[in-house]
Amino acid sequence: MNILDGKQLAKEILAELAEEVRELLANGGRAPHLAAVLVGDDPASQVYVRNKVRSCEKIGFRSTLIRRPADISEAEVLDVVDQLNRDDEVDGFIVQLPLPGHINEEKVTLAIQPEKDVDGFHPVNFGRMAQGLPCYLPATPAGILEMMRRYEIETEGKEVVVIGRSNIVGTPISILLSRKAYPGNATVTICHSRTKGLEGHLRRADIIVAAIGIPEFVKGDMVKEGVVVIDVGINRVDAPETEKGYRLCGDVDFSSVSPKASLITPVPGGVGQLTVVSLLINTLKAAKREIYV
Ligand code: NAD
Repeated sequence: MNILDGKQLAKEILAELAEEVRELLANGGRAPHLAAVLVGDDPASQVYVRNKVRSCEKIGFRSTLIRRPADISEAEVLDVVDQLNRDDEVDGFIVQLPLPGHINEEKVTLAIQPEKDVDGFHPVNFGRMAQGLPCYLPATPAGILEMMRRYEIETEGKEVVVIGRSNIVGTPISILLSRKAYPGNATVTICHSRTKGLEGHLRRADIIVAAIGIPEFVKGDMVKEGVVVIDVGINRVDAPETEKGYRLCGDVDFSSVSPKASLITPVPGGVGQLTVVSLLINTLKAAKREIYV
């Protein structure tokens, strides 16, 4: 078993991005600028946004954090989005999801200009992705592709089983891995909560991408020898013996699956690390007007 070390990869890519920023500045350009909108005080969202802002600082990006209380109206959120769309100093921005229940996430996502949608959630970017056109790829699937590229994981002709069909992970990664490209050219099966015989699908998979949000769902007896496992899940489970009172784990039971896997991502330290990096790559592309001129 070998570990797909997201932490190390993220470090390497961040160093490359920092170098690009230095070059941009040396050539008279300005630092890429990412803004993040955080509504309410969901603890996980606060951690995610803090990591994004810190990563920006580390590599010389400018970042702006816009915080609003949980009881803000939908119209006020849309107003913040509108201002960011029109702010020439901001290259790209994200609205951290989930939003409080009274705010329509779809409406907010649609209000973000595709040119600044560095999360890649807007249907214009999603549609471009599906057609293989230049776009901002959603961060987590983009991070998985980058990991596959850097570890030279063979995907052509492989049986890939994706579990989970969310718009941000399961569905886009299944589209990307079946495209005529590298990584891609795989035969992809997408499984979800209504799938019958899930274990049968898993057992014939060469590559498994797990994105369901159920702690340690995939067990060792559900996978074949030599499988490559990409565990996207980030779950908090109670661990009273620890200082924090909880521990993080993936959707894959690492202890029983890793002895059979040829390659596996740990949680934490796997895909999550690359998600932030992909967002920064998109922001750099936005600053350089690489996707939309
Ligand atoms: P989601 O929570 O929106 O949806 C879960 C999906 O799992 C659904 O499509 C559902 O059909 C499927 N599912 C649920 N129960 C199932 C079952 N018993 N069998 C088969 N399929 C089942 O998904 P999401 O937003 O993609 O999140 C999935 C996990 O990935 C979560 O743990 C989340 O925290 C994590 N995540 C991690 C990152 C990262 O950066 N690493 C990014 C996004 C999400």
